[in-house]
Amino acid sequence: MKRRDLKEERAAAESPAGKRVTVVGLGRFGGGLGVTKWLVAQGARVTVSDKANARDLAESLAQLEGLDVELHLGGHADEDFLNADLLVVSPAVDPNMPLLQKAAQAGIPRTSEINLFMERCPAPMVGITGSVGKSTTSAMTAAILSTKFTTHLGGNIGKSLLETLDQIEATHIVVLELSSFQLEQLSLIALSPYVAVVTNVAPNHLDRHGTMDAYCQAKKNIFRFQRHSDVLVLNANDPIVASWAAEAPGRVEFFQGSLLIDGEAAAPELSTDPPKRFNLPTPGEHNQTNAQAAWTAAKQFGVTWEEAQKALMQYSSLPHRLQYVANRDGVKYYNDSKCTTPGGAIVALRSFEAGKTIIIAGGYDKGVEFDELGSEIAARAKAVVLLGATADKIAMSIEPHRVEGRPVVMRASDLGDAVRLARQIAQEGDVVLLSPACASYDMFINYEQRGELFVKLVTGA
Ligand code: ADP
Repeated sequence: MKRRDLKEERAAAESPAGKRVTVVGLGRFGGGLGVTKWLVAQGARVTVSDKANARDLAESLAQLEGLDVELHLGGHADEDFLNADLLVVSPAVDPNMPLLQKAAQAGIPRTSEINLFMERCPAPMVGITGSVGKSTTSAMTAAILSTKFTTHLGGNIGKSLLETLDQIEATHIVVLELSSFQLEQLSLIALSPYVAVVTNVAPNHLDRHGTMDAYCQAKKNIFRFQRHSDVLVLNANDPIVASWAAEAPGRVEFFQGSLLIDGEAAAPELSTDPPKRFNLPTPGEHNQTNAQAAWTAAKQFGVTWEEAQKALMQYSSLPHRLQYVANRDGVKYYNDSKCTTPGGAIVALRSFEAGKTIIIAGGYDKGVEFDELGSEIAARAKAVVLLGATADKIAMSIEPHRVEGRPVVMRASDLGDAVRLARQIAQEGDVVLLSPACASYDMFINYEQRGELFVKLVTGA
């Protein structure tokens, strides 16, 4: 399918006024809420169908109070799907769900929050995807672009941009972080952003996508419907991502960066100039890569390298991603609670000088291996404080690599205890890093709650 031209697109983006619309999956994050509010404001007759019950959705439901919305919670009912004029499906809902298939067979049209936005967005869009680095690259791109343009950042980050649609003008720029689940649904509207960026790909969410190929096919929707005049920005050092250049409908621009996730980094064949490195206040080689990706996207709009450098100097990490928290007695504390995989913790450890880091790790047991992380901790950490369900597993993975009792391995009963132990051993010039390598569900609701508690424990606020 070819991307339709802009006029046809506008015509196709019909008003939902007066239609019976079922929002499938309200969720606890921004998208479902934003689209529900927007649909009501457009005059649609909205039903929210969610398999979670009212107690689990309490926070989201509180924000819908006073709105004329029918709530059908604790499971999905056939009639909400089969009698609707339109289904707006959350990216968290598996499109293979039998009731969705049944609705498709009955010819009920389906869309998503991001699709509704993209069809109506009057401004040029920059879409950013990848297995890791999406949020950071999106935030950096928006930071650089906002030095010259009114810029809106949304998609998989922050709240739904549908709510601010009437404030977006053709001269503005919209930066969208796009997950593979959001991209999967772009084929319903055959629309890709003007500038598309892919940071990297590694096997991810295969429980939902089934195969690596299906995952890549979903990711490729970010450029599949681009026009001749559109731009695809690819990581020259990621062999899978770089190979997608052959399928680009428009112009391709490469950025160079290290490949820090699973996969073989290839020497970039397609670009001869070494990248001009940015001076960044955010630690880590991965952030240099993210900055190169962001700059390559932003320069399509005429931003100079100097302007990008200035913006990036002001840029501070997003919360929970190697976020600098405080300096206490000459010791720097970093919150990397978003790190829920061993690979993420390796990236974090490599961001600091060897032998100076006290890492706090451990959490919910997803059944992954920690062997590589164990040898990295032994090579780079001064000490490790372990907590949660995976504490023993991580300790065992470090043990074969320890030399003369180094690094020091300690156990903590909870996060408060962990910060106390880390503080005791830390000396001036050291770094205390919360980079758990595990999900948080054994002790916290989510990684945000874990990171916020860490910040509180460090700052005493
Ligand atoms: P995403 O939005 O794709 O989940 P984030 O920007 O939120 O990615 O970063 C999450 C974590 O992934 C970071 O804390 C860091 O550990 C790791 N990371 C970020 N960018 C990269 C990159 N370019 N290469 C490897 N790892 C990265």
